[in-house]
Amino acid sequence: MKNAYFFFSVFILFATQLLLSCSPDERAQQLQIKIIETSDVHGAIMPYDLVEDKATKSSLAQVHAFVEQERANKNQVVVLLDNGDILQGDPMVYFFNYQRTDTLHLVASVMNYMGYDAGTVGNHDIEAGHPVYDRLRDAFDFPWLAANAIDTKSKKPYFKPYTMLEYQGVKVAVLGLITPAIPKWLPPDIWSGMEFQDMIESAKYWVEVIKKTENPDLLIGLFHAGVDYTYAQQQAETPMNENASRLVAEQVPGFDVVFVGHDHEGWNEQIDNWAGHKVLLLGTTSRARDVAMASVDLQLSKATNHYQKTITGEIVEMADIVPDSAFIQKFSPAFRQVQKYVAEPLGTISQTISSRESFFGDAAFTDLIHQAQLEQGEAEISFTAPLTMDRQLEAGPIYVRDLFKLYRFENLLYTMKLGGQEIKDYLEYSAGLWFATMTSPNDHLLLFATDSTGAIITRNGKARLKNPFYNLDDAEGIIYTIDVRRPVGTRIDIISLADGAPFDLNKTYRVAVNSYRGNGGGGHLTAGARIPQELLQDRILQSTEKDFRFYLMQWIRENEFVEPRVTNNWKIVPESWAENAKKTDQKMLFEDAK
Ligand SMILES: [Zn+2]
Repeated sequence: MKNAYFFFSVFILFATQLLLSCSPDERAQQLQIKIIETSDVHGAIMPYDLVEDKATKSSLAQVHAFVEQERANKNQVVVLLDNGDILQGDPMVYFFNYQRTDTLHLVASVMNYMGYDAGTVGNHDIEAGHPVYDRLRDAFDFPWLAANAIDTKSKKPYFKPYTMLEYQGVKVAVLGLITPAIPKWLPPDIWSGMEFQDMIESAKYWVEVIKKTENPDLLIGLFHAGVDYTYAQQQAETPMNENASRLVAEQVPGFDVVFVGHDHEGWNEQIDNWAGHKVLLLGTTSRARDVAMASVDLQLSKATNHYQKTITGEIVEMADIVPDSAFIQKFSPAFRQVQKYVAEPLGTISQTISSRESFFGDAAFTDLIHQAQLEQGEAEISFTAPLTMDRQLEAGPIYVRDLFKLYRFENLLYTMKLGGQEIKDYLEYSAGLWFATMTSPNDHLLLFATDSTGAIITRNGKARLKNPFYNLDDAEGIIYTIDVRRPVGTRIDIISLADGAPFDLNKTYRVAVNSYRGNGGGGHLTAGARIPQELLQDRILQSTEKDFRFYLMQWIRENEFVEPRVTNNWKIVPESWAENAKKTDQKMLFEDAK
């Protein structure tokens, strides 16, 4: 018996050694890798919309079920990557960013549990502020990447630049890059100690480093940046291009797959890089509605000792997948905490308001934001856009969850010093993004997206706005008209201040704007009012400490009863034309799920 046990032990030892001797220097003859990307999850952790208070069909709970299913297939290895922007956009993350900070951040528990192999930092992750993202960087079990976010002191990447993964001797490098446009959107405090580099420049440098020091078999780009490099009047040559993912894939040879994010578009395209090799450009949409998956088949060529690669991409919808029950169970206590938080009643609102009305003229939805901005910012004039495309607040009790409809982003509120002429130019710029030039009463009022022939692109009779809705600002505190017959840049007539006092183009005013706008976002202050980007900071008279939604909540709590009203301080002329066009355009305006 003893002998038998001895021989058995020796056998086990021998067998183990045999198994081990296949690795690590010996490389697999053949390997199938599935690389799964999530991106722009925006807090969609559980299959429940806490803002609208109803179940949803997609979240990380579905993604986890899908990933586990793929992992169960032992003929392949699975790599799970996240491409940023998970920390903003849902009460689930807001709560653990700012309300409950004494425990492990929910996002760290969730992503560690799911077994992510690497992630890239997104601009909305930076937006959460140093206390949040510094804490998460340390709490994640996987590297959080951004090669082009440079520590101003050490001149080295603030996060990790890249990571190496190894499967049966196959070496996979993942390089992370973040959109470098962050200083145009976020207050300097939020990204203090960092500077951002051009994505193409950074990729050139790091691909060299990776090739030399790691000699990978597969090089993956994980870029939190979009694909359309012409977005917001940019060009391929524009330094620090916001959406340089395609440019990097083309201009920096070496990548096999480039995963993109930030634009929420969904991409699956084989492109040729400048060295004549194929690169798969692949990206998911947002809120875990789908994942992007690259299937990589590697065959070792005896002659060259290199792998021959066959790479295909697909976008996999999550809607039909049953959420993973262990996941749901594990994160239910956190979910219940947030559910309780958003159910807190704040006051009562006297009438139903809808963000959709704000696209066609002065509306109660935006005027409510203006009213709070003017008070909180101690300002004379206020600018805002509707920050959601299609949300409603119903008359009656108003809860914390409703504030996520009224004010979607975690912007600070700035009060800035602006001249009368700058205010007018700002409005001209915004009207140029917003309204078409009407040459007859039957023309459209809104500026819809068009194709190369100038025809409006429609799908099922619906059309998309040409410019992001959150850049369509109107003003409060002044009385003005927008004449849509006149060319862009000559449409605004400012009649007076709201109280009838004269408006002076040569005077300066205290103007309330959100921090996205105040730092140059949308270009209203830079391209519109022609204030140089580097001088914007000098114009800030005061800033809130916390995000503006926090003060909005307080404001409603204190007032208890909110009576939204349309101030009618601006109108579109000719009015009859606008009224007519409004009827058609209201039916056409696409509801943007982003
Ligand atoms: Zn995003």
